Amino acid sequence: MSTTGIVTNIQRCSTEDGPGIRTTVFFKGCPMKCLWCHNIETIDPDPTLVWYAVKCIGDQACVRACPESALELTADGMRIDRTLCKVCGSCEDACPTGAMKVMGKLWSAEDLVEELLRDKVFFTTSNGGVTLSGGEATFQVEFAIQVASGLQKNGVHIALDTCGYCSEESFQRILSHVDLVLYDLKVMDSQQHKEYTGVPIERVLSNARILAQSGKPVWIRTPVIPGHTDSEENIRAIAKFIVENMPNVERYDLLAFNRMCTEKYTLFDLEYPLKDTELMTDETMEHLAEIARKEGVPLVAWSGMTRNSAKGISTKEPEVSSCGN
Ligand code: SF4
Ligand code: SF4
Repeated sequence: MSTTGIVTNIQRCSTEDGPGIRTTVFFKGCPMKCLWCHNIETIDPDPTLVWYAVKCIGDQACVRACPESALELTADGMRIDRTLCKVCGSCEDACPTGAMKVMGKLWSAEDLVEELLRDKVFFTTSNGGVTLSGGEATFQVEFAIQVASGLQKNGVHIALDTCGYCSEESFQRILSHVDLVLYDLKVMDSQQHKEYTGVPIERVLSNARILAQSGKPVWIRTPVIPGHTDSEENIRAIAKFIVENMPNVERYDLLAFNRMCTEKYTLFDLEYPLKDTELMTDETMEHLAEIARKEGVPLVAWSGMTRNSAKGISTKEPEVSSCGN
């Protein structure tokens, strides 16, 4: 029988989540809660209703469609009474403009595989494939494994984009169904890791060692967050860990912080905790990359928005624009 799972988004034609042209699946639910999270809608494992003010024309079709009387359109915007809302989706169906949206749709693994295979021609011609991301794909491990094995049977290259925080058993099992792992190492100090992500780092490191034993190709990624993960000491410690423990690492990507998710937080009546944080500079990103190179990591690249690129004077085209997990 096909397992079901919850997915927030299927992003086609992505070039940032592995080699070639890829379709990225964002699984809902994450065991971490990173201070800088760019995919806030994926943390909660359950579907959530959101309202986009900019798309709303105020006709109140949603209010009339709601069987729970959970909606009220006020001068300050749509009030969603989440104690009443059953996330049934009737308001989304009634809304003529797409202003109401349920984040998180239920898929059977079989249907999701079929949907993803629609892009197979792009994967084949570009050496691309599917990336399982989130949230955290291992948070719905049975579903993720069924999706991955269904794709594998059809010859699709599969990348797993993971924060590494899951049980050893789950990790071992899903590893046998993926071709490449994009693995986050954010901050090596255990106390800071717990403070910034909500969980200690030890399990992430033990799974990294399991990953090393598997011999699967790995791309390590570090979101470079000013004042949090951007110290020379942290980048040096991550690079040392890679060199000493993970011979299968093909590249190390430093992803510069940006604030592009700030608006998204307002959909959940939240304020982005880092909304006033300055961007990195090209010079600092290059300096941090050089530190990792000097430790002996074979291929180190940095990308993303910087103060220089925001002013239009950067010489480096961003390859990756998000902070990942
Ligand atoms: S999702 Fe359903 S219950 Fe919730 S506000 Fe919309 S119509 Fe009402
Ligand atoms: S149905 Fe859509 S456009 Fe109309 S009031 Fe509701 S959210 Fe706004």
